[in-house]
Amino acid sequence: MSDDLDSLGFAASKLWNVGRWVCDRVWSEIGHIPGHNELTTYLKSHERYDDLFVCKVEIEVSEAPGEKTVGVDLGINNFAALAYEDGHSELYPLNCLKQDDYYFSKRLAQCDDSDPEQPTRLNQKNSARRTHYFHTLSKHIVQRCVDEDVGTIVVGDLSGIREDEKTDESKNWGKHGNLDLHSWAFDRFTSMLAYKAEIDGITVKQVSERDTSKSCSCCGRKRKANRVERGLYVCDECETVANADVNGAENIRQKVSPNPHGEDRSNGWLAQPSTFLFDKETGVFAPQEHVTS
Ligand SMILES: [Zn+2]
Repeated sequence: MSDDLDSLGFAASKLWNVGRWVCDRVWSEIGHIPGHNELTTYLKSHERYDDLFVCKVEIEVSEAPGEKTVGVDLGINNFAALAYEDGHSELYPLNCLKQDDYYFSKRLAQCDDSDPEQPTRLNQKNSARRTHYFHTLSKHIVQRCVDEDVGTIVVGDLSGIREDEKTDESKNWGKHGNLDLHSWAFDRFTSMLAYKAEIDGITVKQVSERDTSKSCSCCGRKRKANRVERGLYVCDECETVANADVNGAENIRQKVSPNPHGEDRSNGWLAQPSTFLFDKETGVFAPQEHVTS
């Protein structure tokens, strides 16, 4: 009797996991938390259960939107900086995650013994909001790539950063202020991006981030010391002044798609990046000037 109950419990927890997994996928496809009908429709059309616990998904993959490339630099000031092939660039600051962390750490500090479950609930809520943010951002970036005829997204491989961390070079991951954002958060984001991009026929390539923050993306000069002033990369050689994260993103992009030799990109290139913020009212990313909340 007890064994039977145990195996039932095991089956139930497995089903729960499968349920969560399906829910997550549907959620990322339709953009809101799926209801019962949407889940059933999705299961009927997408899933094939070979047995109770293994499910396979057949994804319809589109043609690539184009042949252009975009470089993505992930970081802690701007969660993502994007450098497109034609020179325009976009920044996605962490404003929303920072506000959440501030709010939830305040709430956690106020917890007392009267409700021992409350800290767990708060942490779960914060984590769910972060997951939602990552889903929304990766979906938004893929849509931007579709709009810009991008066929290849080049993302810095963050294992290089962990190396840098040890040698105290490049980005300093210890200084995030209050924001508790581990390197696995970037891995998780990258896999969400890759999964969503694949559906639209876009390839995600990971390249080493080595020297991408030290080199000038315009003339290629590599400096010994990183001269970044207030988030700007300044090159003494060609006098380029660029947003440091955008400069990194462009170097990442060039690892897959080098610029033709000798092409002068110093004139007006790497112009002012557009900044996108998460709009809490609409739940989507919008240009900074349109975000009121
Ligand atoms: Zn330069």
